[in-house]
Amino acid sequence: MFLKKFHVFLLAAALVAGVGVAVLAWDGGQRLTETGAWVTRAPVTSGPDGPGDDPTSRPAPDAPGRPGDSTGNPGRIPGATRPGTRPPVVDHGPRTGNKVALTFDADMTDAMLYQLRTGRVRSYANMRIIELLEREEVPATFFLTGKWVERYPEVTRRLAGNPRFELANHSYGHLAFTSDCYNLPRIPAAQMTSDVARTFEVVEAYGGRQTRYFRFPGLCHDGPALAALAPLGTTVVDGDVVSGDPFATAWRPIVRAVLSQVKPGSVIVLHVTEANAAMTDEALPHILAGLAERNLTPAPLSEVLGGGLPADPA
Ligand SMILES: [Zn+2]
Repeated sequence: MFLKKFHVFLLAAALVAGVGVAVLAWDGGQRLTETGAWVTRAPVTSGPDGPGDDPTSRPAPDAPGRPGDSTGNPGRIPGATRPGTRPPVVDHGPRTGNKVALTFDADMTDAMLYQLRTGRVRSYANMRIIELLEREEVPATFFLTGKWVERYPEVTRRLAGNPRFELANHSYGHLAFTSDCYNLPRIPAAQMTSDVARTFEVVEAYGGRQTRYFRFPGLCHDGPALAALAPLGTTVVDGDVVSGDPFATAWRPIVRAVLSQVKPGSVIVLHVTEANAAMTDEALPHILAGLAERNLTPAPLSEVLGGGLPADPA
């Protein structure tokens, strides 16, 4: 009975996605910001493998029943898309309802590891953020680099063990996927696919609420970078509320940046990297209070992007 209902639901979802694609095609592949359905964006430039972006070949984010889903469960992994298609790029969810996603990036570069090794930096894992989220029972999504996970396996285990936290991918070593990206060293094009695939493997070993969401370091991507991810069946998540917390010297501007931009469906970009985002934990209680005042509720990213899709039809 419920399954049948779910199938009807899938059909409806497919229709909605179809309408979204039609709108996208009609819109000439321009960035969509307010559609009420899926909010995706065409890649900025063409990849090496095709004449630009073909909206009709792009699956909706969270396409159900991803082939190769090892669980065989139509309940699917959030963010999974059909491998072989260029990943959709998502900024935010539908502008209906009251959910927003708090997302925390866990960067780790070789330069940062050097800072830790030489004792110049104490920690790139802000436990005050994690403790606050745990204490207040706030859902959040963590975009983890492989090197951060390997440096902080216990913290990763703790994140994975929280049913309110989702885990996502932020590349292996936080290298730049485009030529000009905040002076980050650039990853060779031939290594892009394996870098992101390896990171999914590193993160997946911890279980918990796994996803196929990927966020580019510095949010820097172009056509070739997106094309490189096509085999991985992923969804690229940017965000529509950039908090500006890296290297902040005061918490108030972070709070102001978030609360002045946030709307229903927003994806808020924050960092859990302590030494490189030292004010985020001070800003967070004020952000949570401001969201509550606006009647906005933090939810896992998959729920914000899914617009209330059932988590598991079983
Ligand atoms: Zn980052």
